[in-house]
Amino acid sequence: MNIEILYWIVLIGVFTGLAFLGQRTNLKLWVRVVTALVIGAILGFIFGDVAASSKWIGDLFVRFIKMLVVPLIFTSLVAGVVSMGDPKRLGSIGIKTITLYLLTTLFAISIGLVLGTLFSPGAGIDLTGVDPYSAVQSSQSVSDRLFGIVPLNPIGSLADGDVLPIIFFSILLGIGIIMGGNKTEKIGEVFSSAAEAILQIAHMVMQMAPYGVLALVAWVSGTMGLAALQNLFVLTIILYVGCILHMILVYGGLIRFGARLPLKAFFKGILDAQAVAYSTSSSSATLPVTLQCVENNLGVKKTVASSVLPLGATINMDGTALYLGVVALFSAQIFGVQLELSDYLLIAMTATLTSIGTAGIPSASLFLLATVLSVIGISDAQTALIVGFVLPFDRILDMARTVVNITGDATVSVLVAKSEDDIDEDVFRSESVL
Ligand code: ASP
Repeated sequence: MNIEILYWIVLIGVFTGLAFLGQRTNLKLWVRVVTALVIGAILGFIFGDVAASSKWIGDLFVRFIKMLVVPLIFTSLVAGVVSMGDPKRLGSIGIKTITLYLLTTLFAISIGLVLGTLFSPGAGIDLTGVDPYSAVQSSQSVSDRLFGIVPLNPIGSLADGDVLPIIFFSILLGIGIIMGGNKTEKIGEVFSSAAEAILQIAHMVMQMAPYGVLALVAWVSGTMGLAALQNLFVLTIILYVGCILHMILVYGGLIRFGARLPLKAFFKGILDAQAVAYSTSSSSATLPVTLQCVENNLGVKKTVASSVLPLGATINMDGTALYLGVVALFSAQIFGVQLELSDYLLIAMTATLTSIGTAGIPSASLFLLATVLSVIGISDAQTALIVGFVLPFDRILDMARTVVNITGDATVSVLVAKSEDDIDEDVFRSESVL
C-alpha cells in the first residue's frame, strides 16, 4: 500500500479516537492535547516526510486562533482597563509587570550563558559547506520601536495587527471610558460583552487543538526530528535543559515563594497553552489560549490577565533571550572569539533588548541574531553562516523557547494578580482545567 494512504488511514483513525474521547468521556481537553502531541511525534517518527502531508490541518488551526488575536487584545484590554475603575491601578500594575518581565529575562539569559559556557555547544562543529543564508535582517532600533508604539492611525494598527500600538490605544481608550463616567458607561459594557463573545469563540476553536497540535508536531518530527539531533545535538540539548531549568527554578520559585501558590496547579493550568505554543512556535498565535488558561484555570481576573498577557506576548521572551545567549556562545566558540566578562554583559544586555523587540512569530529571533552577534565582533557574513546552519532545524529550538515565553507571561500575570489581590485562589487551587 502507498505509504501516504497508510498514513492518512492511521491519521483518520487517531482523529476518530480523539473525537470519541472528547465526546464520550469527560477527559479534559489538556489530556487530549498532550496525548495528541505524543501521538503526533510518534507518527512523524514512523512516517517521516509523509507526515508533512497533514500539515495543513495544523495551519488551519493556527489561522483560527490567529484570527482572534487582534479582536481579543482590543476588546479584552479595553474591558480590563475599564474594570480597574481607576487609572492609578494601571500604573501600579504596569510597573510591577515591566519590572518582573525584565527580571525574569535577565535570569533566562544568565542560565543560557552559564550552560553555553559549561557545555560548549560549538565544540567540534565545522561550518564549511554551509550555504550562507542571505536574509539576515537587522533589527529595528529600540528608539524606532518605542516611537512606533504611538499609532498614527489606530484603525490602521488594528488592520495590520500591530500589537504594541493596539495595546497603547486600547489602554488610552479604557482610561477615556473611565474618565467619562456615566456618559461612557455604556461603551464600557459593550467592550466587556464583545470580549466575552470573542472568548467564547476561542473556547470553540480550542476544541480543534488536539487535531491541529497533532498535525503540526507530526510534521516537525517527521521532517526534522532526528536530523536536528544529529547536527545540533549539544545546542538542542542545552536549550531544552536551559528552558526546563528556567521554568522550574525561576517560574517555579516565583509561583511557590513569591505568590505562595501550589506549583502543580500552575503547571497543570497552563498546559494547554504550552502545548499550543510548542506546536505553533508562536506566542502571538497562542495568546488567546494563554488568556483562557490564565483566567479560567489560574483564576487571574480579567483586569490583570488582559493587560499583562498581550504585553508579555509582545515584549517578554525569556526563552528567546536564553536561546540568543546560547547561540552567541555557540558562534563565539565556532569562530574562535575569546570572550571577556564585559562581552558576557554585552551579550546579556543586547539579548534582553533583542528579545523585547522580537515578534511572537515562528523563528523571529533567528533573524535578529545579527544584533547580538555583532556586539562580540562576529561579522554579518559569519552570522549568515550561523543562520544558514541553524535555520533548517530552528523549529525544534523555537518550539521550546516559545513554551518558555508564554509560561513567563503566565507567571508574571499570576504574581501581579496576587499582589493586586486580583486572583481567585480557589480557582487556582481547584486545578479545574478546561
Ligand atoms: N517564536 C518565538 C515566539 O513566538 C519567538 C522567537 O523566534 O524566539 O515566542
